[in-house]
Parts: sequence; structure tokens; C-alpha cells
Amino acid sequence: MTIRKIATVGHPVLRSATSELGHDELASPKWQGFIDDLIETMRDANGAGLAAPQVYESVRVCVLEVGDNPRYPYKPKIPLTVLVNPRLTVLSDETFDNYEGCLSVPNLRGVVPRACEVRVQAWDRMGNSLDYIARGITAGTYQHEVDHLDGLLFLDRVRDTKTLTTWADFDRFHRDAFIARVGTIVAKYGS
Ligand code: ZN
Repeated sequence: MTIRKIATVGHPVLRSATSELGHDELASPKWQGFIDDLIETMRDANGAGLAAPQVYESVRVCVLEVGDNPRYPYKPKIPLTVLVNPRLTVLSDETFDNYEGCLSVPNLRGVVPRACEVRVQAWDRMGNSLDYIARGITAGTYQHEVDHLDGLLFLDRVRDTKTLTTWADFDRFHRDAFIARVGTIVAKYGS
């Protein structure tokens, strides 16, 4: 396994079109090894997720995992999840304001409206079909990662640029209010 370099905002790979993987490609050592690297790189950087374009591969693969994460201590846990060719369908018009950060946007966070409930359809790393609903803060994490596969960064969805903050100033000025809001969302959606 290799920890890969993470592309940062401004690199064209983050804005490029991505291709789906077929079953045979997905089963190949090349792409199975790539998925191992993606997981390892996410864990090394304490990310809640990582998408293939962030490590310079224009394919529709992303990974998510939230354990005891020092970058996001308030986030509900997500077991290690590999999504291949994911598709999200928004299930309700209701949105919440999520304070997001991104490994490809160093030291910046901002408020992004996210749908509260999405249907997730994808393959797992073995090519088996997945179909379930993600809710609340967790739904926001899914939307952030799948956006990367469509060449979007959270910056593109920030409505009020006055919410942009460094991580240190997030902790100083915004963290407590956001954590209170997270509690309300988690209470409502269970995640
Ligand atoms: Zn990101």
C-alpha cells in the first residue's frame, strides 16, 4: 500500500470529468490496489472521506470512514465504506448548514447547505450493488465526496463567503455554535 499525494485546489484534476469502472476493471489488481491506497491515504490524513480525483485518478471511486477523528470529533461514526460508480438521489427538499473542510482545500472551512436525506446507489469494492439511505451529517459527508467525482469542491457550494474560516478560527469563533447545531441534526436524523 502506498500513501498517495493529495491534489490541492487549483489543480485541474479536481475539475476533470471522471469515468465509471466496469466490473472487470474493478476486479483488477490495479484498481483493487488503488482502493487500498485511497483508504490508506484517507486514514493517514485523518480525512472523513477521500475521492479518486483527489489522488490524481479520474475515476468514480470514493471512500468514507469516520471513527474517532481529530479533524471532525463531532461527526457521527461511519464504518469504512467504498463507493464505486456512486449515484445519489436527494430524497427531501430539507437542507441543513454543514461546516465543511476538505483535504484538497488546506486550512479552510465554510458553510455549505446539504440535503438531509439521500439515497445512495453504488457498488462496493467487490462490485456488489449497494442501495441505502444516508441521513443528516452523514448525508452531508456523502454529498461532499460524490461532488468530487463531478469536479466540484465545497467552495463551489458556499453561499455566504463570510462563513469561510481557517481551522484555528473555526475552533475559536464558530465551533461551539456549529456543534450545538450538529446535536440538533443528529437528534433529528440519527446520524
Ligand atoms: Zn473534499
